[in-house]
Amino acid sequence: MKFLILLTILSFFFLVNPLSAKFYSNVSSIPPSQLLNSTRCAWKTFSKLAGCHVGDKVDGLSKLKQYFHRFGYIPGANNFTEDFDDILQSAINTYQKNFNLKVTGNLDSSTLRQIVKPRCGNPDMIDGFSEMNAGLRTTERYSFFPGKPRWPNKKRDLTYAFVPQNILTDDVKSVFARAFTRWAEVTPLNFTRSESLLGADIVIGFFTGEHGDGEPFDGPMGTLAHASSPPSGMLHLDGDEDWLISDGGISRRILPVAVVDLESVAVHEIGHLLGLGHSSVEDAIMFPAISGGDRKVELAKDDIEGIQHLYGGNPNGDGGLKSSRQSETSGGGEIHRWSGLVFSLSLIATCIFLICF
Ligand SMILES: [Zn+2]
Ligand SMILES: [Zn+2]
Repeated sequence: MKFLILLTILSFFFLVNPLSAKFYSNVSSIPPSQLLNSTRCAWKTFSKLAGCHVGDKVDGLSKLKQYFHRFGYIPGANNFTEDFDDILQSAINTYQKNFNLKVTGNLDSSTLRQIVKPRCGNPDMIDGFSEMNAGLRTTERYSFFPGKPRWPNKKRDLTYAFVPQNILTDDVKSVFARAFTRWAEVTPLNFTRSESLLGADIVIGFFTGEHGDGEPFDGPMGTLAHASSPPSGMLHLDGDEDWLISDGGISRRILPVAVVDLESVAVHEIGHLLGLGHSSVEDAIMFPAISGGDRKVELAKDDIEGIQHLYGGNPNGDGGLKSSRQSETSGGGEIHRWSGLVFSLSLIATCIFLICF
């Protein structure tokens, strides 16, 4: 066990790519050139596939199949051709159903508009199955991971820690504190920040590209973050995004710009950490996609019903005051590149000590 912990920590320090993300404290601090840059999108090339039908053979369809494969709509092998075949049509049908689109099996404009939106890296379908838009339920669309994993009953006080090499500012950390509080308010769970990775239930880090878990990030937009199911507590965010840190006073849409609201993504990914899958309710936090510039941080009825199905409600009814809140300060900052060498060496020495003794 200690060896696994050591391997995990060493991977953070030696396998992770340098970071390039910037944090903006408010919309007015974003450079004008950034405000105008609304065309960045990892999946922009999919737009040229509009109007394709079964039987067509078009360059780019293999990449679209890889997209659907990544999010669980095409299980199995990933040696894809440029043919618009029945497999692709079936994937589009399911995708349209999950995202409340008209089920046509074709690449119509509304479907492509949804496909190219930035989104969570977690799949919508696992082993070809999802409850995202299950027909038996009429209103609830929340879903769980296969087997419905959750944190055990004896574990109601969870700790979270940040990967030290990110050297995040208090502003950034306070965003996560607010995000955790939103879930604590409606569950019996408490979340406390730990300064040490050792023993933390949840580890949060910003990474770029391949970062050791086989789920590489893809640069600006595209996939924004991903998180593991309980009781593993890994929350990874794409260091190539430009992240917006608002002060918590705005609950919904900000501006149509190519920046990503950090709290919106954090609340969503924490839902995964607690056991929720994706929901087809567009207003729900657990809806898989979010437009650049959008802010969505309030738990919807669907989110609350889903999480309370796993844990029950907040027994104290104290509005989440028992959960940890970090102090909030103004101003933004940029996450720093490798600069914690001394800290790293001391941490590694600690790990070796733990293994040996
Ligand atoms: Zn997700
Ligand atoms: Zn990852």
